[in-house]
Amino acid sequence: MSDKILRKDEAAARTANMPDYEVVRKAFSWKEARAALAGLPGGGLNIAHEALDAHVAAGRGEKIAIRWLGRDGGRRDVTYDDLTRETNRFANVLGSLGIGPGEAVYSLIGRAPELYAAALGTLKSGAVFCPMFAAFGPEPVQARMEIGSAKVLVTTASLYRRKVAPVRDRLPELAHVLLTDGEAEGCTALAPLMEAVSDVFETAPTKPEDPSLLHFTSGTTGRPKGAQHVHEAVVAHRATARFALDLRPEDTYWCTADPGWVTGTSYGIIAPLVIGVTMIVDEAEFDPDRWYDILGREGVTVWYTAPTAIRMLMRAGAGLIGKRRFPRLRFMASVGEPLNPEAVLWGQEVFGIPFHDNWWQTETGGIMIANYASMDVKPGSMGKPIPGIEAGIVEVTDAGVKELTKPQAIGELALRPGWPSMMRAYLHEEARYKKCFRDGWYLSGDLAMRDKDGYYWFVGRADDVIKSAGHLIGPFEVESALIEHDAVAEVGVIGIPDETAGEIVKAYVTLHKGFEPGPELERELLGHARKRLGPAVAPKAIVFRENLPKTRSGKIMRRLLKARELGLPEGDISTLESDEK
Ligand code: ATP
Ligand code: MG
Repeated sequence: MSDKILRKDEAAARTANMPDYEVVRKAFSWKEARAALAGLPGGGLNIAHEALDAHVAAGRGEKIAIRWLGRDGGRRDVTYDDLTRETNRFANVLGSLGIGPGEAVYSLIGRAPELYAAALGTLKSGAVFCPMFAAFGPEPVQARMEIGSAKVLVTTASLYRRKVAPVRDRLPELAHVLLTDGEAEGCTALAPLMEAVSDVFETAPTKPEDPSLLHFTSGTTGRPKGAQHVHEAVVAHRATARFALDLRPEDTYWCTADPGWVTGTSYGIIAPLVIGVTMIVDEAEFDPDRWYDILGREGVTVWYTAPTAIRMLMRAGAGLIGKRRFPRLRFMASVGEPLNPEAVLWGQEVFGIPFHDNWWQTETGGIMIANYASMDVKPGSMGKPIPGIEAGIVEVTDAGVKELTKPQAIGELALRPGWPSMMRAYLHEEARYKKCFRDGWYLSGDLAMRDKDGYYWFVGRADDVIKSAGHLIGPFEVESALIEHDAVAEVGVIGIPDETAGEIVKAYVTLHKGFEPGPELERELLGHARKRLGPAVAPKAIVFRENLPKTRSGKIMRRLLKARELGLPEGDISTLESDEK
């Protein structure tokens, strides 16, 4: 736990007019948040209508919705008008193929403009959209399409040949494969279909409870679950983007997440467009030099990224920034994994503003706990519940769920159900879904604690927490302490069985450039950790690695480190991206 507090006048130096957290929290109601949206003419609610048509109707159609940056230097500006017409066409194409409300349209495609048109066009038509990472292999692609009964897939010829053709005969329900480029057997080119239909479409009369998006979890703890969301989620997307990202229409906003995971959809498509910003979409993969370039050259004002990217930027060194400056950048936020205090302070040093960590899950559909824009930032803390969200730290036993109200008590992070973006099902896994709810709480599966000021601190996933000599050790605390050392770039900490202590702490470490792994550095790191954490919590062993195993959404897969350590089966690794070296 960091004892430092970044005061709000410092933290929110470039964030004007953000009302006080407590004031907004008291005044907030979901009903009013719903009333702030346009709604469909007939009284229904549709995400794509709020994201596009409502702006066009209000005369804002000429504004740039997407500034697309191609991998090879190409750029394309897409206005709200353009995207409205493209989504209308896509919805008409689905109609011409006989795809009806509630049927599933999938995508397997990089961050191209067509992805955004397909996503919102599908929602307009009343069908359900499920985006997949373009980097998935054939097995995960097949599993996801099977679970959600995919009727249509939007992809490219080359992705189709490599990832879908080998499993197509196992997908009897997949009726249409639409290609955004190239040709392949058994597929249809999308462009001629789009040209053949009208660019006018009347949005389907969806109701708030109608299904909208299907999102698979990251697979960090096991087999990914398919979380089903509804159109009403847009109420939360808009409200939370105001509170946790301080997003406003005049912003140039960059969410670095791929729509293949929920951040890239909730806050990489829906929320920014509903608010009416210009958003940057970068087709390329992570590259520190390119990222600094985009932040500076495009004049990004609000930036939403992930701890793994921040740590990689830190690893690349601030020297890379050179003469670039970021005078327009006024707000930075991070999600997906615990954000080490070191990274928050680094942000403050390099950009003059701290990173604002926030916490949520695929299941919650939107940000739940955040370092609200006008709040003091405590580096290492996830912040406080978003207005409209009631959170608690609870203990779950056979007798039931008990709230732990004493400050600093560690327990499961739980939420009172009822916010609009909550999942409505784990597809085809009703028992698993039901298990998430008990005694009026949604149980997150994460452990956390709340301090006396009401800030929440992530301790670890329930599965990852280590029990050693009577202590409950959260991997995050140990990882954050190690990362403070100049040599350390990334850390994954696990518990391994031990006869006397129950479990002992072992750390897998990657190093910054210029540091040599070896017994000397190991001794130094062990000493550093003991000094920071005390002997009971500090790791007993350190292993140096070039790389840690991570999911495609950038999360360290501690369960994989552990399975390998213990010689156990690796389990579902369909979302594994980078692996140990
Ligand atoms: P799976 O549920 O398949 O194991 P996952 O939980 O990683 O995968 P996501 O829904 O993408 O799938 O991620 C949500 C989880 O990510 C949270 O439950 C939490 O463990 C972690 N997380 C997200 N944001 C934060 C944060 N700010 N601090 C700490 N942990 C976070
Ligand atoms: Mg999860």
